[in-house]
Amino acid sequence: MENEKICSSCGLRLGKNDGMTFFQCPECGEAEIGRCPQCRDQSVTYTCPKCGFTGP
Ligand SMILES: [Zn+2]
Ligand SMILES: [Zn+2]
Repeated sequence: MENEKICSSCGLRLGKNDGMTFFQCPECGEAEIGRCPQCRDQSVTYTCPKCGFTGP
């Protein structure tokens, strides 16, 4: 599905009410990074699918 969101850190599919967060990549500003509550809680790093930027 085109609008399906996944956590950029663990690849978990995210629903609307799962408490996930989304933000634009701070490096390229193009890719949308998604994070599930679990990864956010554990401070798992994410990787931008476009520019490869990694961050906490
Ligand atoms: Zn995750
Ligand atoms: Zn990026």
